[in-house]
Amino acid sequence: MKYVDMHCDTITSLYRSNGSLLNNDLHIDLNKLRKGECLLQNFAIFTNIEKEDSSFTKAAIDYYYKQLEENKDLIKPVFSYDDIIENEKEGKISALLTLEEGSVIDNNLNNLGYYYDKGVRMITLTWNYPNGIGHPNFIYEKDRDHDKLHTINEKDGLTPFGIEYVKRMEELGIIVDVSHLSDAGFYDVLKYTDKPFVASHSNARAVCPVARNLSDEMIRKLSDRGGVTGLNYCSAFIEDLNEEYTTIENMVRHIRHIVDVGGIDCIGLGSDFDGIGNKLEIVDASGVQKLYVALKPYFSEDELEKIFYRNVLRVYKEVFN
Ligand SMILES: [Zn+2]
Repeated sequence: MKYVDMHCDTITSLYRSNGSLLNNDLHIDLNKLRKGECLLQNFAIFTNIEKEDSSFTKAAIDYYYKQLEENKDLIKPVFSYDDIIENEKEGKISALLTLEEGSVIDNNLNNLGYYYDKGVRMITLTWNYPNGIGHPNFIYEKDRDHDKLHTINEKDGLTPFGIEYVKRMEELGIIVDVSHLSDAGFYDVLKYTDKPFVASHSNARAVCPVARNLSDEMIRKLSDRGGVTGLNYCSAFIEDLNEEYTTIENMVRHIRHIVDVGGIDCIGLGSDFDGIGNKLEIVDASGVQKLYVALKPYFSEDELEKIFYRNVLRVYKEVFN
């Protein structure tokens, strides 16, 4: 079963280590994506604003295009929905560029146009810091007490600048990503936007009660809007904050719960590969078909197609200009 993955940190990691997209020791390289039957991989440029600024983001984007150019017989960047269809016909994997940390526009909304022109088609508004756009749900502190991860923030949402930011994203055709955003921020996005949006890498809070996951009500609202949440494979968000191993059984539990609550049209995949430190039963991108096999007893082939790629592609088709 071909699949679309809405989030990984592979390019950021490769840029930091001067690594190769074709072959490496990470969760994702081109050999693993082919073996796993990947149709489209989102590649996030994650910028840690405590240590880096937009010059890092821009250099990492250059590295992304350098890696794609070196491997153009296997993978090609996409800028529109039609590009995805075209790449599939050519037997190539599609690569879609995203940003994780929206403040790299340096307080200037015109720079959203700059990143759009660079190929960015999805932006995760915040990471784990307040950033002038909105507030995160995972309160990051250096010597953090794990209980802080459970802090559900229903008070601090989008800033006035953040509201303008998401409106401009919609005009340009960039998908708003609410993973990492506070609950209040989620409801602000709902209030101030019209198009479908995503939680590119978030799970169900009812199954694993951490603030990084979505409440049942958020899943319903996201689904009502026509949006999708991508299953995050990180053990802290699948199993428990203190668990260091992700089982396929519990990945299936999250998917079944999200479908029970929001319906079959609001779930996709958002691995978080190369952004997670724990071990997984799936091991890496080459093992994604193990999840397909594990889901088979619970879903029809038509439903599995929706989970693995059709739901996400529906949102891409609707939002990309
Ligand atoms: Zn993330």
